[in-house]
Order: sequence, then structure tokens, then C-alpha cells
Amino acid sequence: MFKQKKKYSVFVTRAIPEAGLQLLRKHANVRVWNQTSPIPGKELYREAARADGLFTLLTEKIDKKFLRANKHLKIVANYAVGFDNIDVPAATALGIPVTNTPGVLNEAVAEHALTLMCAISRRIVEADRYVRSGKYHSWQSMLFLGADFFGKNLGIVGLGRIGISLARRAAQGLGMKILYTDPRPNREFERHYDAEFVKLPELLRRSDFVSLHVPLLPSTRHLISAKQFAMMKPTAYLINTSRGPVVDEKALVRALKKRLIAGAAIDVFEKEPRLAPGLTKLDNIILTPHIASATVTARDNMSLVAAQSILDVFSGHRPKSLVDPAVWRKFLAARPVS
Ligand code: NAD
Repeated sequence: MFKQKKKYSVFVTRAIPEAGLQLLRKHANVRVWNQTSPIPGKELYREAARADGLFTLLTEKIDKKFLRANKHLKIVANYAVGFDNIDVPAATALGIPVTNTPGVLNEAVAEHALTLMCAISRRIVEADRYVRSGKYHSWQSMLFLGADFFGKNLGIVGLGRIGISLARRAAQGLGMKILYTDPRPNREFERHYDAEFVKLPELLRRSDFVSLHVPLLPSTRHLISAKQFAMMKPTAYLINTSRGPVVDEKALVRALKKRLIAGAAIDVFEKEPRLAPGLTKLDNIILTPHIASATVTARDNMSLVAAQSILDVFSGHRPKSLVDPAVWRKFLAARPVS
């Protein structure tokens, strides 16, 4: 039973799936920044000033200054599993709950990582361009030779929800050997998938494909840079669906130019949406515009999870996906729900 007494206001910082909007509109007054480009900072401050809850996208920078200017906010619900766009410690200090959307996009992101692995190793984009440009005149035995998966090593960096979803597909569906690295070994996973826990340098040296699934943290910024590319096999591929700054993009361009690795396929960029100089000139890379979770099902569910978090907070219930659970006690003490 929904116990909210007052009709609160929610500001949604971009067009989102109707599923989440419909849920919000049943219980709150909703305003939406209905544009394709991000809301300018000034507008965001203006809208936030009159909202009780914010529904944000990863393009919105919710920093300490913004949070201090909007102490009245009851929640910032981020429409993403990553929350590196939000100063969570500052929000906790002010008693503002921050939520994310974990779980509902695991399969979609793992499928995108797998799609990128297939596309780069079998040279799908190059081959498509070749056919379209009228160059295909006869079958050739050496045309677009690529790499296969069966019996090859897949190195997973960050064995969390998405890393495990990809590992499952690669081990069971493709017959790959799984190597992984993570601060916390997962022995049950190892037994189940015959996987091997190794440190990052060993993973880089032995993997035929390296797929990144870590959050962006100070400790993961430039986790893969020139030194790490030098450790990888010249036949290896790098897949990044995590966050752009996990990879030193200039070092990636150099590694691909010098063929230190065979190729890369990336969905995220260091200074999104800008690209490092030279990236688009390379033929051994595939680039997608941060769409790893972009399936109808995943995005609908993400919008529902974020909307439900907002409604939970408005009705005094602890939302399921609090980024920092410690905020809840503070929130209740500071803001009795009307
Ligand atoms: P998760 O928290 O379940 O997993 C992250 C894992 O990384 C954890 O197991 C953690 O212990 C591990 N880790 C942390 N630091 C590490 C390090 N230095 N080395 C190795 N492992 C480390 O998160 P998740 O739901 O699997 O999502 C992972 C990330 O994927 C998110 O933080 C987000 O940034 C990104 N993501 C991107 C998209 C996209 O559209 N491209 C979509 C969803 C998520």
C-alpha cells in the first residue's frame, strides 16, 4: 500500500522510457527535460530547486556544490549502475540518499560485451564496409581472417554482476577458459566455471580477450595504460563496457597503431562524448556510443527501478538500491516524511 501523503515533485533530467514515467506520474508531479542533449547546469539548478526528488542520467554531474545548494532533495536516483557522476560521500554527509539500478542490466551489458568480442575478432564492421564499397569480387581463402573463441582465454577484470554474466556465456556457450581478477576471489564461481583467479599482470599476459567490468574508482582510473598494453599478447583484444577512464585512451591509440594488441572494441570513452585524437582513424577498433545497456527490456527495467526508489523514499521506505546504505539513518533523522 502506498502511504505517501503529500504529492511530491520529481525532475527527470532527460527523456526516459514511458514505463518509469508512468509509475512516477501515478504518485508525483513530474517534470522532464525532454531534449536529446544534456540539461545545461543552470537549468538543472533551477529545476532541482523546486523538486523533491531528482531522476538523473550519468551525464549529470552531481557534485558537492550542487548537493549543498540543493540540501532539500530527498533523493537522487541515478538511471545507471555506475554512480561516478555523483559525489556520494557528499550526498551522505547531507543525508541525501543516492540510488542506482544494479542487476536489471547485467544480461544486456554482458550481451553487448560478447557482441563486441564477436564483431572485433571476426572483423564484422571491416567486412561490412568492404562489401558495401563494392570490393567483393570473388571468394578468397585469406579474406578477413579472424580469431576464434573455442579453447581461448577470456580475462575478466572485475568479477561482479556483469563480469559473471559474461563469464557464464563465454564458458558455457563458447567453450572459453575464464581467468579473472578482482580484489575478492570468488571460489564458488571458480569451482562452477573451472575459472582461475590471477593477478592483473598474469591475466593480461595469458588472455586472448580481456574484458573490463570494474567500477570507475580512483584505483581503477587508467587501470589499463601503456605498461599494461605492453604485457598483452599481440593477438589479444581489449573490450571495454565499464567506464572510459578505466583505459588510458591515448595509450590505447598508440597500442593499436603499433599493433601491440590485435584490436579493441569499446562502448565508453575517457572524455565522453569526445574521442582521443586518432581513435576513429584506426581499422582495428570498434566504437559504440555507450549503449551496452540499451535493450528495450533493460532500459524499461532501469526506469522502473529508479522510479520505484524515488517513490519508496517519498513514502518513508528504504529503497533497495541505496549506493551508501549508511545514509538512511541520517535521512530519517533529518527529514521526517510528511
Ligand atoms: P559490480 O559492483 O557488481 O562489479 C564490479 C566488480 O569490480 C566487483 O566485483 C569489484 O570487486 C571489482 N573491482 C573493483 N575494483 C577492482 C580492481 N581494481 N580490479 C579488479 N576488480 C575490481 O558492478 P556491475 O554491476 O558488474 O557493473 C560494473 C560496471 O560496469 C559499473 O560500475 C559501470 O560503471 C559499468 N557499466 C557500464 C554500462 C554501459 O552502458 N557501458 C552499463 C552498466 C554498467
